[in-house]
Order: sequence, then structure tokens, then C-alpha cells
Amino acid sequence: MANAAQNQHNLGENDERWRNVQSLRELFHGRFSEREAETIINHFHGNFQQAVNFGFEATQAEIEDVLGNGDGWQLVIYVRQHQVVQDLNRRYEITKEIRQFSCGLCNTMWWRKVPTRKMVSKCRTCKKRKKALPRDKEWGWARFNCVCGNEYHHFGAMDIRMLRGSNGVQLSGKSKSLCFRCNQYLVEPTEILPPRRRPRRSLPKGAHCTAYNCYKRYIPTVPEPIVPVCVHPRSLPITVLVAANSHTSTGSTVDTFMSQDDLITDINP
Ligand SMILES: [Zn+2]
Ligand SMILES: [Zn+2]
Ligand SMILES: [Zn+2]
Repeated sequence: MANAAQNQHNLGENDERWRNVQSLRELFHGRFSEREAETIINHFHGNFQQAVNFGFEATQAEIEDVLGNGDGWQLVIYVRQHQVVQDLNRRYEITKEIRQFSCGLCNTMWWRKVPTRKMVSKCRTCKKRKKALPRDKEWGWARFNCVCGNEYHHFGAMDIRMLRGSNGVQLSGKSKSLCFRCNQYLVEPTEILPPRRRPRRSLPKGAHCTAYNCYKRYIPTVPEPIVPVCVHPRSLPITVLVAANSHTSTGSTVDTFMSQDDLITDINP
């Protein structure tokens, strides 16, 4: 049985690898032979993203390291000069996202516009390069959608395990806020809004917060759902709710290709 499962697993992995080889060839408009594409994919242990970066950025030495001393380098040069691939490269390069970063050590948080394919930003204080926080770890001004139909904005956090409830017990999951229209439901954030997409950052009229740690705590006179913890920056005991992982350079770096200034647009106010 174990063998059958193992075979099944290998089959799945081979399938995936075959698909990646085809995608790589497609991306480079068939300029790589199947064998070359496969060699590149295998070199990166099946990691498609790394294989694509390699196609766009690797130096001659790196190419020869992978494809041998044959005409591999010439081929890559030819591929890169090919207009369609150049356009593609440009498109691929300019896809950017505004993402959240944090440094646990320096207790700082910031948002940066970074290229989708390399979402890294340097901490201004310790100069360490940080990976963008996954979307489900972000916190800040957020959109909420209550089951009563009300959509509103408030502070939210996608992961509150750094915080404790009123009884001192570690919390988990997303933060909650009380829908100010129905006053009945505790609502979790739908998404955290990057600074550029933020509507006016003010709390709606009638919004109040029953959390034990709220900086303007409200004690309800009639029974009302209790917010487990308030994530308004003024209520939080800490700045960094989730510390971003450090980025370790893979050697094939984008810095040789574009300057850091091109990559980073500071959108902090
Ligand atoms: Zn730092
Ligand atoms: Zn509601
Ligand atoms: Zn509050």
C-alpha cells in the first residue's frame, strides 16, 4: 500500500514537473527545447518561478552551469532579444503590488509597492531584507461585510495570535468588530486595505467597541456582543502583530537587472 501511495505521489510530482516544462517552453515561445526546459526546471527542483527568473536574469556563467558550455548561452541571449519575450518580460516586471512588511526586531511596520515576482523590502532600521507578509497575516484599515448587509471600514487583523483576551488566554484567528448598524454581529475583516485603496480613514458614526483593551472602551447598557480584542493602533500594546520572515538571497538576484530605486515606491505618508 505504501508503495502504491508513493507511486501515486511520484506520478503527481512528475505530472506537475511536466506541466512546468511545458509552461516554461510556452512562456519563452518554444525557444527552449523540451530537454533544455526540463534541465532548467530540474535544476530548480521543479520550482517554476525560479526557472522563469533564471530564463530572464541568469548570467552567462550561471547559464553554462545549468545548460553546459554548448550553445545554451547563445540560445538564452536569442530568447531575451526576441521581441515577444521582451514584451512579456516587461509586463511581468511591472506587475506590482502594495504589500505589508514588518520587522519584529525593530518593532516597525510599513507598506511598499514591490514587483509581484520579488516581494522583498528592506527594514529601514536594521537594513535586513524582509519578505512581504502573506495576505492572511496583514493588519490595518480593513473592509468588513456584515451578514446584515452592512459594509463598513474599521481596523482589522487577519491573525491575532500575538494578542491575548481579557482572561489572558492567547487568541487565534481573525480580529472581530461589532457591526455598528445591526449591533448584533461580530464581523471578521474581509480584507486589509493597502494605503492606496483606503477610503477615508475614520470610524463610522455610531461605531463603538466593547473590547476590554479598547482605548475608548464602551460598556454596553444592554446586552451586546463583546469584541474579544480591539486592534485599533491606539489600543494595541504592540506595533507588530506578525513579524515578516527575512529574505535570503538566492544568488540570481533582480538587483543586477533593475536598481532598487526602480523597485521601491514609498507609499507611506
Ligand atoms: Zn529591522
Ligand atoms: Zn450588521
Ligand atoms: Zn476598540
